[in-house]
Amino acid sequence: MCIFCKIVDGEIPNQTVLENEDFLCFHDINPVAKIHVLIIPKKHYDSFDVIEPELMVKMTNFIHEVAQKLNVREKGYRIITNIKEHGGQEVPHLHFHLLAGEYVGRLVG
Ligand code: 5GP
Ligand code: ZN
Repeated sequence: MCIFCKIVDGEIPNQTVLENEDFLCFHDINPVAKIHVLIIPKKHYDSFDVIEPELMVKMTNFIHEVAQKLNVREKGYRIITNIKEHGGQEVPHLHFHLLAGEYVGRLVG
């Protein structure tokens, strides 16, 4: 079982920000911004690359709720999902990073 599935099952403790039937948001163990949380579906998907668009619709709503709860909607935040090896993905369970709390740096592009 993957590490995030273990978090969903309660086998590994986490600092929960928000959860509902389908999704869980918890603090990243190694934050790289003032606010750094992870948003995951409770069901295991390997990455963003293999999901149905319908899941993203629900997940988008949940991300908005998280941003509301963290009070970052006005000033802004960044959402990142890393996909497989060349995308820098380390945990093979779909997750979105939400970074906020201050200016979080500019990405190349
Ligand atoms: P990735 O590189 O896969 O996009 O990001 C994985 C993230 O998961 C990293 O930011 C890392 O700090 C975080 N992480 C890894 N293991 C754990 C854990 O056991 N608990 C929590 N809360 N975060 C974790
Ligand atoms: Zn998993």
